[in-house]
Amino acid sequence: MTKKKVLLKFPQNGVSKPFTYRLIKDYDLIVNIFKARVTPEETGELWIELEGSDDRIKKGLDYLKKERIEIIPLEKQIERNRETCTDCGACVSLCPSYAITMDRKKWEVNFDKKKCIACELCVDACPVKAIKVNF
Ligand code: SF4
Ligand code: SF4
Repeated sequence: MTKKKVLLKFPQNGVSKPFTYRLIKDYDLIVNIFKARVTPEETGELWIELEGSDDRIKKGLDYLKKERIEIIPLEKQIERNRETCTDCGACVSLCPSYAITMDRKKWEVNFDKKKCIACELCVDACPVKAIKVNF
């Protein structure tokens, strides 16, 4: 089983079709949605992780391409330097996928790499530059 994180960009009026349903039913993929945004003009963006065999993921992505959906792989890796981080919490509320959370008992900031969708919102927010992007 392979996991692949991608950002899907939907064309205008392209958000109303049941794409995730088709990926699950027709391509036997597990679809984990991290974040979704639909604009008033009805374009849309969807941050997802697909899980399945390489072949099924490829076929599922080919199906989306045929539907004129732009696919942007999220290959970047976010790293948090535990030594530099001061647990100030400035990045916590910005994280759309809850990869960064505050342990309120210990007042420590935790980072779960598996949930990160590499949106980079936390990178500029960190006052001590404890978060960096790797390619
Ligand atoms: S890049 Fe930062 S803000 Fe974005 S999902 Fe990852 S940890 Fe959260
Ligand atoms: S903003 Fe930087 S220093 Fe503050 S909790 Fe986040 S990673 Fe740590």
